[in-house]
Amino acid sequence: MQLRCTYCQTMFALGRDDMLAALEHMEENKLIYHDAHCPKCRKANRVERARMERSFPDWKTAIKTMAKEASRVEIETGKQVADSTVEKSTPNRKPAAKKVKKHSVKKNLAETKKK
Ligand SMILES: [Zn+2]
Repeated sequence: MQLRCTYCQTMFALGRDDMLAALEHMEENKLIYHDAHCPKCRKANRVERARMERSFPDWKTAIKTMAKEASRVEIETGKQVADSTVEKSTPNRKPAAKKVKKHSVKKNLAETKKK
């Protein structure tokens, strides 16, 4: 959506992602305004939530789609984590080594008994 800075009259655009983030933030914090910062003078321009919703009516659907994509990424990352766990647990052939050690200890004990 196009905005005009009330301080320096600069026209600047609020992108879909910007609006989505702003709307989500307003929803979470129960706000009715979004402070859009002017790229030129950096001053905050209040944009009414209703006005933003009018220019982006399907923002809730867009957020849901984004959340889906995020969870899909999480699942994929989770898979990677699981794979690395498997890899880490693979060299678990220590029980065999322990047995050898125990045996050798027993052997040593037997040898000391002999003495
Ligand atoms: Zn400005």
